[in-house]
Amino acid sequence: MHESDVLIVGSGQAAKPLATRLAKAGRRVVLFEAVAVGGTCINTGCTPTKTMIASARAAHVARTAARLGVHVRAVEVDLAQVVDRKDAIIRAFRSSIEAAYAAAGERLRVVREHARFVDKLTLEAGGERYRAPLIILDVGARAATPSLRGLDKVPWLDNAGIMALRRVPEHLVVVGGGYIGCEMGQMFRRFGARVTIVQSGEHLLSREDGDVASAIEGVFAAEGIDLALRCAGTDVAPDGGGVALRLTDGRTIKGSHLLVALGRRANTDTLGCEAGGVRLDPRGNVVADEFYATSAPGVYAVGDVLGGPQFTHTSWDDHRRLFDILMKPDAPRQPRSARLIPYSVFTDPQVAAVGINERTAKSRGIPYQVATMPMADVARAIEVDEKAGLMKVLVDPSADRILGASVVGAEAGELIHVFLVLMQAGASPRAMVDAEFIHPTFSEGLQTLVMKLPRYALS
Ligand SMILES: Cc1cc2nc3c(=O)[nH]c(=O)nc-3n(C[C@H](O)[C@H](O)[C@H](O)COP(=O)(O)OP(=O)(O)OC[C@H]3O[C@@H](n4cnc5c(N)ncnc54)[C@H](O)[C@@H]3O)c2cc1C
Repeated sequence: MHESDVLIVGSGQAAKPLATRLAKAGRRVVLFEAVAVGGTCINTGCTPTKTMIASARAAHVARTAARLGVHVRAVEVDLAQVVDRKDAIIRAFRSSIEAAYAAAGERLRVVREHARFVDKLTLEAGGERYRAPLIILDVGARAATPSLRGLDKVPWLDNAGIMALRRVPEHLVVVGGGYIGCEMGQMFRRFGARVTIVQSGEHLLSREDGDVASAIEGVFAAEGIDLALRCAGTDVAPDGGGVALRLTDGRTIKGSHLLVALGRRANTDTLGCEAGGVRLDPRGNVVADEFYATSAPGVYAVGDVLGGPQFTHTSWDDHRRLFDILMKPDAPRQPRSARLIPYSVFTDPQVAAVGINERTAKSRGIPYQVATMPMADVARAIEVDEKAGLMKVLVDPSADRILGASVVGAEAGELIHVFLVLMQAGASPRAMVDAEFIHPTFSEGLQTLVMKLPRYALS
């Protein structure tokens, strides 16, 4: 039996800073990783998608440059080269994580094995047993396998498989119009594939307001992406070298490749949670309180395994909060559900949001005032011909506060931070009216947006 102070399972986004900081603070830490250091974000999530999306955007910009008076004769995408570039960046990111582990010294040991509970506060990995008074689970999630009839009879791709393809598919059928389906669908359309996205809801990105989702749907349609909205796949079968997907509306879509992007499933099925006394919810997520404590004393969980919101920055922030809970017990604590969690979908244009949107305000009966402005009204957007999208802000009518904002537009993922910081600081939207924004920028449009609210309008 190996004894230490802390065992961390999974090398995800919270694990690296937790492991290195706990070791620096004098704790003997053992970190287990079954597949590759860096977890989903580095290996099969944020890093590879955003790297490949950059290649797809280059192809799109070249193809559409004529609108700016620049004529590109032919655009050829070498997917193998795109994938090699992506893999090189992943390798570089992984190496820097490994270097950080090595720099932590002998107090941090990385065991490249799958770990599972065999008893309370006891794990087994690679045939050896490990015990510590503190165990942190950062095991993340993977693509969920839906109960789609016939799926086991066809070759289908998940987020990892599709980013390993070295030739552009002829016709990619994407089941699921959430952020992964949208990012992948647009990326492969820009690489040259025919793309159909099947989405059971009324809109893509079903959590967004209707006008926000419609803005991105308009862009997708203009780029030639076929959208099959309000219908789901009922069953799938092999069809020549490809697949035939039958839909609830009676249609059958035939494609060369099938990407399934229907949510994520926590990596708890082989974790031995029962032996460890760690309670799971019916979907397999670890149940933890506001301060990451699971049902097993001494066992904490962070990141995607908690069921959501599933973002890298959320997992990283979980690390920051849990570190303080463990190492600074007298410091004031905030429940994790009270924090602001912004996000961005890296389609082009991006879709970013923070706080609540109109859909949420209505469903919760929260009073609000809203201002909306098309991106096409922003001077910068016209100058660079990135006019698709809109900006929206919701404010509390009885208090001088922002409730939330959504932006669809170029670099929306950057723009949303203006609202994030104001909301985090509890500042008045008036700060945006009083501030001097640089002309011509997209951010300047945010100021104009706020001034569309009667309370902040110039008289
Ligand atoms: C295609 C895609 C794109 C994404 N894009 C973004 C984005 O742009 N921005 C963003 O914020 N988020 C994005 N995400 C989500 C983001 O990747 C995750 O939220 C984040 O990686 C979660 O980190 P984590 O700490 O929960 O664990 P993970 O990063 O999932 O890491 C968990 C690790 O635990 C290991 N593990 C699991 N079980 C065991 C075990 N029993 N023993 C040992 N090791 C184990 C796994 O191998 C894995 O390495 C994306 C995800 C996907 C799939």
